[in-house]
Amino acid sequence: MSQFGTEFCDHFAIARFDGKAWQAAEIKPLEPICLHPAAHVFHYASTCFEGFKAYRWDDGKAHVFRLRDHVARMQKSAASLRLPVPETDLLAEMVRHLVARHTGEIPAPPSSLYLRPTLIGTLPNIGAAASPSTTALLYVLASPVGDYFAGGVRALKILVEDQRSRSTEQLGSTKTGGNYAAALGPTLAAKAEHGVDQVLFCPNGDVQETGAANFLLISDDEIVTKPLDTSFLHGMTRASILTLAKDLGYRINERNFTVTELLDWAGRYEAALSGTAATLTPVGTLVYRGKDIPVRDGQGGPNVDRLRKALQAIQYGQAPDTHGWLSTVDG
Ligand SMILES: *Cc1c(COP(=O)(O)O)cnc(C)c1O
Repeated sequence: MSQFGTEFCDHFAIARFDGKAWQAAEIKPLEPICLHPAAHVFHYASTCFEGFKAYRWDDGKAHVFRLRDHVARMQKSAASLRLPVPETDLLAEMVRHLVARHTGEIPAPPSSLYLRPTLIGTLPNIGAAASPSTTALLYVLASPVGDYFAGGVRALKILVEDQRSRSTEQLGSTKTGGNYAAALGPTLAAKAEHGVDQVLFCPNGDVQETGAANFLLISDDEIVTKPLDTSFLHGMTRASILTLAKDLGYRINERNFTVTELLDWAGRYEAALSGTAATLTPVGTLVYRGKDIPVRDGQGGPNVDRLRKALQAIQYGQAPDTHGWLSTVDG
C-alpha cells in the first residue's frame, strides 16, 4: 500500500456554513476546492481537523472507532478557534455516508480506512486578524491505510526537549494546523542532529507529548501519564488504553512528572507513544543533552505489546467491544 495519507477514495463529504446556518452536506467526487485568496484560513490559520479509523470486519461491515468522541473533540477544537461549530449529527452523518459509500474499498485489518474531517475559515477578509471567520467549509476525506507495523514493531528513539514547546497553553488541546507548524522546525532539527524519530516536548521540564502522539510510561501494574490539561492534545487512543488497562488491573496514575523523574524511571518503566495512526508504539531510547538513555533494555516490552493488542483486538472485531466504542456502518 502507498505511504500513509497519500491515497484517497474518489469521493469526499462537504458542507458549508454560510454565516447563519450549516447547509446540507453532500457526498461529491473528490476534487480541488475553490477558495478566495483572502480566505481567513490562509492568513490567520483558522483550521482544525480530526483523525480516526474505520475497520472492515469479517461481517463485511465498516466499524468506526469512537466516532461520537472524535466529533465532540472537533467541536471543541472549532469552538476554541471561534470557528462555526458543526452540529453533531451533521458531521457524524457526513462520516457515515462517506464510509458507507467506500466500505468495499476498506482493506482487511490491520489495514483500515483513515478518516480526516477538516474545518476551515473561509471569510475573505485580510483585515480579520483579530476577528473570527463567520463562514466556513467542513469536509471529510477518506484514505485507505495499511498496517503501520508492516515491517515489525520497532522501538522508537526520541529526543527529550526540555526548553521549547510544541504549542501554547490556549491551543495545546486543539487539533489545529499551527501546532504542527510549530513542532516541525524542532522535529526536523532533532532528526538531523540526533537521528531520532520524534521530539518529546517537555517545556520547563514538564513531560507533555510529541508532535502528534501522547506519551505513557507503563510497568507490569501501573500506567503513568500526564493528566488532562490545556497544554496537550487529549488523544482518544490514550483514553482507550487507560480504560483497557484499568479493566486489566493496571493502576492508572495520571500525574505531572518532570524530565528528571522520567530519566530516573527509564530503567523500570516501558515507554510508549499513543495515537490513531500507530495505536501504541514502544519507545526504546531517550536522547537527552546529547546522551542516549535506554528505556529498560531499549527493545520495548511486554506491557506495551499487551495493551496494543488488547486495543487492536477490539478494533478488528476479535474481542467484545465492552465500552461501546465502535459504530457500525451499513454499506
Ligand atoms: C491527534 C493527536 C494525538 C493522538 O490523538 P488520538 O486521538 O489518539 O489519535 C496526540 N497528540 C497530538 C498533538 C495529536 O495531534
